[in-house]
Amino acid sequence: NILANYPPTEELQALDAAYHLHPFTHANALAAKGPRVITSAKGVWLKDSDGEEIIDGMAGLWCVNIGYGRDELAEAAARQMKELPYYNTFFQTTHVPALMLAKKLAELAPDNMNQVFFASGGSDANDTNIRLVRTYWAEKGQPEREVIISRWNAYHGSTIGGASLGGMKGMHGQGSLPIPGIAFIDQPNWWAEGGDMTPEAFGLERARQLENKIKEIGPDKVGAFIAEPIQGAGGVIVPPDTYWPEIQRIVKKYGILLIADEVICGFGRTGNWFGSQTVGIEPDIMTIAKGLSSGYIPIGGSIVSDAVAAILRETEFNHGYTYSGHPVACAVALENLRILEEEGMVDNVRDVTAPYLREKWEALADHPLVGEAKIVGMMASIALTPDKSTRAVFAAEAGTAGFICRDRCFANNIIMRSVGDRMIISPPLSITCDEIDILIARARKSLDECY
Ligand code: PLP
Repeated sequence: NILANYPPTEELQALDAAYHLHPFTHANALAAKGPRVITSAKGVWLKDSDGEEIIDGMAGLWCVNIGYGRDELAEAAARQMKELPYYNTFFQTTHVPALMLAKKLAELAPDNMNQVFFASGGSDANDTNIRLVRTYWAEKGQPEREVIISRWNAYHGSTIGGASLGGMKGMHGQGSLPIPGIAFIDQPNWWAEGGDMTPEAFGLERARQLENKIKEIGPDKVGAFIAEPIQGAGGVIVPPDTYWPEIQRIVKKYGILLIADEVICGFGRTGNWFGSQTVGIEPDIMTIAKGLSSGYIPIGGSIVSDAVAAILRETEFNHGYTYSGHPVACAVALENLRILEEEGMVDNVRDVTAPYLREKWEALADHPLVGEAKIVGMMASIALTPDKSTRAVFAAEAGTAGFICRDRCFANNIIMRSVGDRMIISPPLSITCDEIDILIARARKSLDECY
């Protein structure tokens, strides 16, 4: 069994270089260096093919909320595979895992959100949202309300639709994106873009860009605004407190739909079930994935408000994926939600581990390389700077300092990610206070080695 009795690391790396194209990776540069081969994991700890133990500060890709190695999920998958490994919900049928998961999500979501459309992950759920918004407005007799406004440096996925909604210019460059009908406003990143403004004034200014953009396009042409409650992949950008209330006021004023992309923020990451609750907004649609199954199996979806569902239900929505509501994925997600709920993981994050992490994380701002240190629940970032008094950036190409720091972290057996010159973490929600101490000690050691 090659998966159990694998050859030495160098041989695995050579196989990887020969056959495997990695996402978001310069393949030849990686092959020259050799990727780390991850072989197993338990709790917050990864093990590699050399037997090294690494603390996973990123919960995989922000997704392993309950931590690694929970046999209950494997057992739920095995049970469901034996009972009914696959069936669709397209043509006059349904099945128990899909309907039970939809019901559970309706219980967890805000009171006015009770209907779920399933996808295989976050990107294709956001593709669903584009068609859903446009179908909604067409059914309401306003088909010209096609435009969806998003934010520069947002991440909404990698499909043509998801990458179009996202504001990552490097992604737009590959594939002639965005598709028509997507517009952008600036992100609420005070550290990098706030200039001389106070964070409060800057938050208002950035939110009011939404109103200006709506007026510029024409309110009768705008269908929705999409945003992550806390921007994740853009660098854990925590907006000033003035930002979200103003956004909420504007979307209400113009009657446009608010899509909260909860792919990272959902399922406890911010200390509540959904990031929308943490930042105090009332979305019409929520994109979900990642923590829904703690990454054990691919699944995503859109939870929609009763008002949106009522309109959609009046027509045939010509959209769906073979794996929409996959029974095995739904069974695993249900078991994952049971663990999150019955073990009180979300409450524990809000009341115990997130406050503990906050204290330690914010103390990193003492370090000479660290500018702002931001944190919401179990997602956090630090901005690297050569001069915190002026919020200066490093002279080398943007991102170089981040890469150096990330590589030091890697060498010190902690996974932290760099986004430009921000370092970010998003550990499993199951992390303990003792493990937080280890994480912070390794992060600080890595920063010291960069100084
Ligand atoms: N939306 C957000 C906010 C994300 O962070 C991601 C992935 O990181 C996605 C959508 C895309 O999800 P997936 O990679 O499951 O397609």
